[in-house]
Amino acid sequence: MILLDGKKTSNEIKEEIAKKVVELKSQGKKAPHLAAVIVGENGASLTYVNAKVKACEKVGFDSTLVSLPIDVSEADLLSKIDELNNDDNIDGFIVQLPLPDHIDEHKVTLAVNPMKDVDGFHPENLGRMMLGLPCFLPATPAGILELLDRYDIETSGKSCVVIGRSHIVGSPMSVLMARNTKVGNCTVTLTHSRTQNLEQITREADIIIVALGKAEFLTADMVKEGVVIVDVGITRVADDSKKSGFKLLGDVKFEEVAAKSSYITPVPGGVGPMTIASLMLNTLQAIDMK
Ligand code: NAD
Repeated sequence: MILLDGKKTSNEIKEEIAKKVVELKSQGKKAPHLAAVIVGENGASLTYVNAKVKACEKVGFDSTLVSLPIDVSEADLLSKIDELNNDDNIDGFIVQLPLPDHIDEHKVTLAVNPMKDVDGFHPENLGRMMLGLPCFLPATPAGILELLDRYDIETSGKSCVVIGRSHIVGSPMSVLMARNTKVGNCTVTLTHSRTQNLEQITREADIIIVALGKAEFLTADMVKEGVVIVDVGITRVADDSKKSGFKLLGDVKFEEVAAKSSYITPVPGGVGPMTIASLMLNTLQAIDMK
């Protein structure tokens, strides 16, 4: 079994990006600038946003964190987005999800200028992705492609099962794994909460990408020998032995599934850091697209 080490790979990518930033600056250009908007103080969201801001600092990007109160009105959030859309100093920005119930997530996604949509959630970017046109790919699926690519995993002609059909992970992932590209050319099955006989489907899979958000859902009896496993799930589970009071679990029962896998991502240290790396890569791309 080989560990698909997202932490190590993302650090390598960050070093490459840092060199490009030095190059840009030496040409008299400004450093890329990423902004992140967070509404409220949800613990997990704060952790993710802080990790993104820290990553920006590490590669030499400028970063701005916009913290809005949990009761911010939808109109005020949309006007903040408008401000970021029109701020020439900001190259790309993200709005950390989930948002509180009184805010319509779709309205927010549509309000972001597609040219600054480095999370790749805007319909224009998703549509361009479907057509294979230049665009910002959604950060998590893009990070997974990058990880598979850097580990030289053969995907062409393989059977790939994606578990979970969210707009930000499962659905775009299924499209990307079927594209006629280096990492792609899979025969893809997209499964979800209404799928019947899931274990029969997963047992046939060469590659399984798991993104449903249920801790340790995928067990060894559901996979075949030699399978490649990508675990997107992150669930916080109470753990008194940790200083934070919790540990993170993926959607895969790691030890037993790892024993049957050829490659597998850990949680933490797998897909999470790769999501941040692709956000950085998208922000760099935003400069080129200007
Ligand atoms: P979501 O919560 O929006 O959707 C879950 C999906 O799982 C749904 O499409 C549902 O149909 C499917 N599902 C639920 N039960 C199922 C079952 N029994 N069998 C098959 N499918 C089932 O999903 P999301 O936003 O993609 O998040 C999934 C997980 O990935 C969460 O744990 C989230 O925290 C994590 N996540 C991690 C990263 C990262 O960077 N590592 C990024 C995004 C999301």
